Amino acid sequence: MRGAGMGAKAIRYSPWVMHFNAGACNGCDIEVLAALTPFFDPERLGVKLAPNPRHADVIIVTGALNKKAAERLRRLYDQTPSPKFVIACGACAISGGVFTDSYPVISRADKVVPVDVYVPGCPPRPEAIIYGIKKLLDKLGGHLESSAR
Ligand code: SF4
Repeated sequence: MRGAGMGAKAIRYSPWVMHFNAGACNGCDIEVLAALTPFFDPERLGVKLAPNPRHADVIIVTGALNKKAAERLRRLYDQTPSPKFVIACGACAISGGVFTDSYPVISRADKVVPVDVYVPGCPPRPEAIIYGIKKLLDKLGGHLESSAR
C-alpha cells in the first residue's frame, strides 16, 4: 500500500496528492484540477493524483468548512498514513474567505487538521498551487537534510 512504510524521502520525490473540496465555490477546485493536468505537468515534481486517503501523502483542501465538511476532513486526515501533509488552498480554506461570517461556516482548515503550506488567492492560479506543492517539498527536503546531519 502506498504510504505505509514509505518514508519522507520517498514523498519528497513522489508526493501523491488528494484533493478535498470542503464546499468551495468550484473556483479553487477548477484551478487544482488544472494544476494536476499534463498542461502544467506536475509530474516533473513527481506529483500524482491519489485516488483515496489511504494512498495519499498530501491533502489539498479547498473551500470553507462547515460542521459536516470539518468532520469529513478530520476523518480523511486520520485515514491518511503518516507522514502526511496538508496544503490549504485558497482564501476560504485559509480563513473562511468571503464566507467567514456566513452562518454554516464554522472553521478553517488549520482549526481541524495541521496545515503545512498556505496557498493564498481567490482562487489561486495553477502556478501558485504548484509553487505551494514545491514549497512543501522544499520544506521536507530541509528536514531530511537536517536529520541526516
Ligand atoms: S477562495 Fe475564492 S475561488 Fe476559492 S472557494 Fe473561496 S470563493 Fe471560491
